[in-house]
Amino acid sequence: METSTKLVPEYFGRYVFDDTTMRARLPKDTYKAMIRTMKDGRSLDISIANVVANAMKDWAIELGATHYTHWFQPMTGITAEKHDSFISPDDSGRVIMEFSGKELVKGEPDASSFPSGGLRATYEARGYTAWDPTSYAFVKDGVLCIPTAFCSFGGDALDKKTPLLRSMETLNRQALRVLKLFGNTDVTSVKTTVGPEQEYFLIDKALYDRRPDLIFAGRTLFGARSPKGQELDDHYFGTIKPRVAAFMKELDEELWKLGVYAKTEHNEAAPAQHELAPIFTTANIAADHNQLTMELMQKIARKHDMVCLLHEKPFAGITGSGKHNNWSMTTNTGVNLLNPGETPYENAQFLLFLCAVLKAVDDYQDILRVSAASAGNDHRLGAAEAPPAVISVFLGDELTAILAALEKEKSYNAKEKTLMRVGVHVLPKFPKDTTDRNRTSPFAFTGNKFEFRMVGSAMSVSDCNTFLNTAVAEVLSGFADELEGAESFEQALHDLIVKTIRAHKRIIFNGNGYDDAWIAEAEKRGLDNLKTTPQAIPVLLREKNIALFCKHKVLTEREIRARYEIMLEGYVKVLHIEALTMVDMVRKDILPTVSAYADKLARTAIDKKNAIGSLACKYELNTLERLSACTDAIYDALISLEKAIDSVRGEEDKLLSAKAYETRVVPAMQELRRHVDLAETMTAYKDWPYPTYGDLLFGIKN
Ligand code: ADP
Ligand code: MG
Repeated sequence: METSTKLVPEYFGRYVFDDTTMRARLPKDTYKAMIRTMKDGRSLDISIANVVANAMKDWAIELGATHYTHWFQPMTGITAEKHDSFISPDDSGRVIMEFSGKELVKGEPDASSFPSGGLRATYEARGYTAWDPTSYAFVKDGVLCIPTAFCSFGGDALDKKTPLLRSMETLNRQALRVLKLFGNTDVTSVKTTVGPEQEYFLIDKALYDRRPDLIFAGRTLFGARSPKGQELDDHYFGTIKPRVAAFMKELDEELWKLGVYAKTEHNEAAPAQHELAPIFTTANIAADHNQLTMELMQKIARKHDMVCLLHEKPFAGITGSGKHNNWSMTTNTGVNLLNPGETPYENAQFLLFLCAVLKAVDDYQDILRVSAASAGNDHRLGAAEAPPAVISVFLGDELTAILAALEKEKSYNAKEKTLMRVGVHVLPKFPKDTTDRNRTSPFAFTGNKFEFRMVGSAMSVSDCNTFLNTAVAEVLSGFADELEGAESFEQALHDLIVKTIRAHKRIIFNGNGYDDAWIAEAEKRGLDNLKTTPQAIPVLLREKNIALFCKHKVLTEREIRARYEIMLEGYVKVLHIEALTMVDMVRKDILPTVSAYADKLARTAIDKKNAIGSLACKYELNTLERLSACTDAIYDALISLEKAIDSVRGEEDKLLSAKAYETRVVPAMQELRRHVDLAETMTAYKDWPYPTYGDLLFGIKN
């Protein structure tokens, strides 16, 4: 393999049309124009786009590419691509390889089947894709991929990238206003930075192939607990098995070639669970890279005869998978705005940005919750393992004490009896919290960034960052309004910080988020507890949220309503597939198996009786009796599930439909599963039609 003999720096970014490649391959003026476009968001002249396209094509062909694609992120949450070759006929009946600036800048995929929530009628199928020059083009599997946004001809966003870019723009604008007040004249842009930690499971492919639930639903719909789960914590950070290590090595190498900063790989809490953390980068690039990471994980796992499960809850009773979205804001001068800094001045600025995030998370906790809502994640949030469905912020004891002192205008340093004044005093040092406690918090401050832990492992990080950026931008804009008009900036700043802490301290919680007492306390504090996806999605349409997105031009009301419909539709589709898969498995495999096994027990008992004339068949008769009762219960539950599925059919209203699935189909699925899992414990291992939890979780032996 080409990489094994090379050093990482030699092949890192080899398949990326990055800054180094551009500098080497573009005429000086073109290169400069490109950099201006990337840094300041200027639009690119078509004559320049032509030069860039040509250079890109030559470079891609040298790497073996024959096709190009506009790579985009429709509202399915994954990526889409349609390949066009570079060939163009010439006069002699042969072909030449061509790629124009027009083809680079804009594409028109016939993409009528992507969800649009009614934004685009299928008869006007075409939308268009527009190049995002801030995310580098790359070559993947012989195809030049151009990261693009996807819109309808009417200009509605049909993807997840467009709103993210818009949200970054509004945050940039508002943060600059605030920074100017602090006298930061050299700062010309603020970007949000994101480092998403990705959790996943790896299981043996041969076993996966025998589980229709994993194939159709990505999670096990049945399965009795194995005697061993994760009780011993012996998997967490444990030695990585050679087969998994080989996978991780290849994954790292392939990601590095694509310029993805894969940094840390380790075993996670559950058996067969692992995590990859990249070094953070600009939000839209991080979102692109996370998509590539998920795609390559799945592809490379298969090369190693394994399957990568990205589902939030592949196994009941075993920790699920999330995506920890680490988020901060950085200036073009390299200052992390969530870094407390060393001087009173830096501290004051930090405190203001910290307060902005606190207020944003409190005011818009509902939409942050929605950004992590999906049928898959419903099994995780609030299930006493992942963060609860209630949003709160962890600040750690030290920082909380500092804010409390500020709020009460009390001394923060008991010994010196100093009254804390913003902009005058240096914050006392507070160590980065390293305790495990904060793992239960959905939104934790970890020293110089926030970590949003609710996001599901299979989800795009675009939504949560879009929502977070917009909420913070809104708060910063209010702060700027207030401070810009102030007579004394220092006084106004101090007052604003104190006022914000007072108004929003209810969102701070440093305790155990898994504790039931917290849920009761959260309710008292008036925090939202949106337990399930159908309960969460309607908050998108709350007036304040529509106003937020419209004001900042991140989403129009039409776009919000479309997203609302798509999310509900997605929920219903997932549950429908899961329910049908269960019915299929029970009818075709499980009932025939348990029935045949009961028959086997009955025959053995009769044979024994005939042979020895006595009733020395306690095991057979006892099991037969219990298994037969269980079989009847399975059958009844199956009929109930089928009825439930029938009863929710044909509901036109998407919210009512989602709620019907939540309240009728989900309980029927749970009931069916309960009986099937019990039957599994009574049936001979070799007769059970599917690999067990034990097989799946401990199937990769070395
Ligand atoms: P831990 O969360 O265990 O303390 P790290 O601090 O190293 O670990 O970071 C975890 C993730 O947070 C990594 O993906 C890292 O790149 C990301 N991260 C660190 N700093 C920032 C930042 N300023 N903005 C966004 N993400 C960051
Ligand atoms: Mg972390």
